[in-house]
Amino acid sequence: MRLHEEAGGKLFPDTNKARDVLNALVAEATRAGVTIAANSRVAGIDRSANGFRIAINAGDITAARVVLATGGRSLPKSGSDGAGFDLARRLGHTIVPTTPGLVPLLLDGERDAMHRELSGVAHEAELTLWIDDAVDIRLTGSLLWTHFGISGPLTLNMSRHWLRGVLDSHRAALTMNFCPGLTFDDVERWWTARAAERPQASVSTQLSMRVPAPSPTRC
Ligand SMILES: Cc1cc2nc3c(=O)[nH]c(=O)nc-3n(C[C@H](O)[C@H](O)[C@H](O)COP(=O)(O)OP(=O)(O)OC[C@H]3O[C@@H](n4cnc5c(N)ncnc54)[C@H](O)[C@@H]3O)c2cc1C
Repeated sequence: MRLHEEAGGKLFPDTNKARDVLNALVAEATRAGVTIAANSRVAGIDRSANGFRIAINAGDITAARVVLATGGRSLPKSGSDGAGFDLARRLGHTIVPTTPGLVPLLLDGERDAMHRELSGVAHEAELTLWIDDAVDIRLTGSLLWTHFGISGPLTLNMSRHWLRGVLDSHRAALTMNFCPGLTFDDVERWWTARAAERPQASVSTQLSMRVPAPSPTRC
C-alpha cells in the first residue's frame, strides 16, 4: 500500500480510504498465520502454570503470552469501553487515571463569548500551556474557532496536555499567539513597519494581512 505523510507526521494511504488500511492489516495477519476470533469478548485473563488462561464467551483458551490491545475508552460502541484497563489492573498493572486525548476545548461562554463571534474561522496559531506559571509545552498548528470554544488539529493535540495538567491538580492556563513563531517585539516591529509604509490604512486592513476576517454574517 502506498502511503503519504501529512502535517504532523501522520501517514495516510494514497487512496485516503480507511478500508484499505483495514484490508492491509487483515492481509498481513493472514500472511503471518494469525487466527482471528471475531465476536469473542474477553471477560477475564488469569495467570496459569504455562502462561495465561483467557476467558471468552466460547470457553477458555490458553496462551504463553498476551498482548493487551483493547484500546482506550473513547468509543464504547466499537468495544473500546475501558474494559481493558480492568483486565490489566487485575493482572497487577498500575493504571494512571485516564483523560481524553484528542478533543476540542470548551471556553467559558459567560465570561467571554469571543469564540462564538469567530465560529468557523480557522488560522495558524501557537498555543502555550502554562503549568504552575512555567511553560510546559508550546504547539503550533491550525486552530478552528467554534460556537463552544476552540478545535482544529492544534487544539486536539494540546488537549491531552491541558487535561493531564488539570487532572494532576496543577494550576493550568493556556495562552494563544496569533502570530506563531513571533515574539511580542517582532509583532511590534511589524506593526511599526506597516504604519510607516501605509499610514492611512486602517488597523483592520493591516490585521487582515495576518489573520482571516470573521464571517460578516456572524459579526
Ligand atoms: C471519532 C474518532 C475518530 C478518529 N479518527 C482518527 C483518524 O482519522 N486517524 C487516526 O489515525 N486515528 C483516529 N482516531 C484514533 C484511532 O481510532 C485510535 O488511535 C486507534 O483506533 C487506537 O487503536 P487501538 O488498536 O489501540 O484501539 P481500538 O481501535 O480502540 O481497538 C481496540 C479493540 O479492542 C476491542 N476490545 C476492547 N475490549 C475488549 C475485550 N474485553 N475483549 C475483546 N475485545 C475487546 C474493541 O472492540 C476494539 O475493536 C480516531 C478516534 C476516534 C474516537
